[in-house]
Amino acid sequence: MFDNLSEKLDKAFHVLKGHGQITEVNIAETLKEVRRALLDADVNFKTAKEFTNSVKSKALGQDVLTSLKPGQLMVKLVKDELTELMGGEAAGVDLSGNPSVILMAGLQGSGKTTFSGKLANFLKNKKTKNPLLVACDVYRPAAIDQLHVVGEQIGVSVYSDRENSDPVAIAKAGVDYAKANGHNVVIVDTAGRLAVDELMMKEISNIHNAINPNETLFVVDSMTGQDAVNTAKSFNDVLDFDGVILTKLDGDTRGGAALSIKSVVNKPIKFIGTGEKMDAVDVFYPSRMADRILGMGDVVSLVERAQEQYDEEEARKLHKKIAKDQFGFDDFLSQIQQIKKMGSMKDLLGMIPGAGKALKGMDIDDDAFKGIEAIIHSMTPEERSTPSVLNGSRKKRIAKGSGTSVQEVNQLLKQFTQMSKMMKMMQGGGGRKMMQMMQG
Ligand code: GDP
Repeated sequence: MFDNLSEKLDKAFHVLKGHGQITEVNIAETLKEVRRALLDADVNFKTAKEFTNSVKSKALGQDVLTSLKPGQLMVKLVKDELTELMGGEAAGVDLSGNPSVILMAGLQGSGKTTFSGKLANFLKNKKTKNPLLVACDVYRPAAIDQLHVVGEQIGVSVYSDRENSDPVAIAKAGVDYAKANGHNVVIVDTAGRLAVDELMMKEISNIHNAINPNETLFVVDSMTGQDAVNTAKSFNDVLDFDGVILTKLDGDTRGGAALSIKSVVNKPIKFIGTGEKMDAVDVFYPSRMADRILGMGDVVSLVERAQEQYDEEEARKLHKKIAKDQFGFDDFLSQIQQIKKMGSMKDLLGMIPGAGKALKGMDIDDDAFKGIEAIIHSMTPEERSTPSVLNGSRKKRIAKGSGTSVQEVNQLLKQFTQMSKMMKMMQGGGGRKMMQMMQG
C-alpha cells in the first residue's frame, strides 16, 4: 500500500539527517521533496501546496520548544498533517434507524456490489445486526446474480425483483421487505455506469429521495487517482453523500485518492477495501493510515484483527489439550487457519513497523502454509493425534502424498515438537496471556 510514497517521504526526511536544528533553508529543501512525493502520489497540486505550507509554519514555530531532532520532528509533523488531510478522527456509520438504510452509489466497476457484501458481512459479524441486501441494478441481470452469489457466500438474504424495471420501486419494496422480515439494516446496491452521466445521477437521486437513507456511501476505485476525486465531486454535488469507500487499496495505487478526497468533498473516508474476498475490508482510521504511509506499521489494527479471530471456547479447549499432552496436528492446522483468516500475509506483515520497507519488492507468498497443510492432510487421523507413531516409512508415504520431501516432513515435525514444548511451558502463570496471543 502506497510503497512509493512511503519511500519518497523517507528520502525527504533524510535531508534533515545530521542537522542539529530546523532552519528556513533545510526545511525548504525537505518540504520540496515532500511536495514532490505527494504530487507523484497523484495528490492535487493545491492540496500538496497547502500541506507543505502548513508543515512549514508548524516546524518553524517549534524550533526552540522541542527536544526532538529535526528529522524526528518533521516525521511527527508530516504524520499529523497526513492524519488531518485524511480526515482526522475515524468516522462511523449511522446504524440508528430501524431499519437503518444504507445506499451505495458509484461508477460501474468501482466495487459497489463487492463492498455491499463486505459491509453486510461486517455488520452480520457484529451479531446484533441482521442485514438485507437489495439489488437495484435493473440494467444488468448479471449484477443481480452477482449480489445473490455474494449473499449466499456470507449467509445474508438478498431482495431482488427481476420483473420490475423501476429501481426506485425496488428500493422501496426492499425496505418494506426488511421491515416485514426483521432486518435492521438494509444495504441498497445501485446501478453504476462507466462514467458520470445525467441519467444515472437522476436515478440515484430519485432512489435517494424515495428511501431517505440513514447513510449514503460513495464507492470509488482508489486506482483511478485524480479521476476518483473528480467523480466524488460530481456525486457529492447531487447526493451530498455521508462518506466515501475507497476500494482496491491492495492494488498498485499511488495513494492520491486517499489523500485528496477529504479535502475536496469534505466527507470522511469510512471504509477501505483491500481485496476481493468478503473479509478484505477495514474501517478507515486516518492516523493508522498515516502511520502505515510513514512505515511505522499499524500494530493496533494487527492486534484488532487477532482479537476478531479469537474464539474463547476454542482457546479453552486448546488449553486443556496442551495440559493433557494431547496437542496434535489437527490443532496445529486449526491454528494456521486462524492466522490465515486474519488476512493476506503481505497485508499482515505490512502492519509490522519497519516490515513494509524491508519487504519492499519481495513477493510474499500467500501460500506459505500450503506445504505444511498438504503434509498434515496426508497424515492419517492417528498420525495427527499421536505424532510419535511417525516412523520412516510413514514419513515417506506422507512426503509422497503431499508432494513434499521427507526432509520437509521432518522439518515440520521438529517445528511441531518445539511448539508443543513451548506451549506446555507457557501453561503456568503468565503463559496464559501469551497463549491467548498465539491463539490470535
Ligand atoms: P460494481 O460494478 O461497482 O458493483 O463493482 P464490483 O463489486 O462488481 O467490483 C468490480 C471488480 O473489482 C470485481 O472484480 C471485484 O472483485 C473487484 N474488487 C472490488 N473491491 C476490491 C478490492 O478492494 N480489491 C480488489 N483487489 N478488487 C476489488
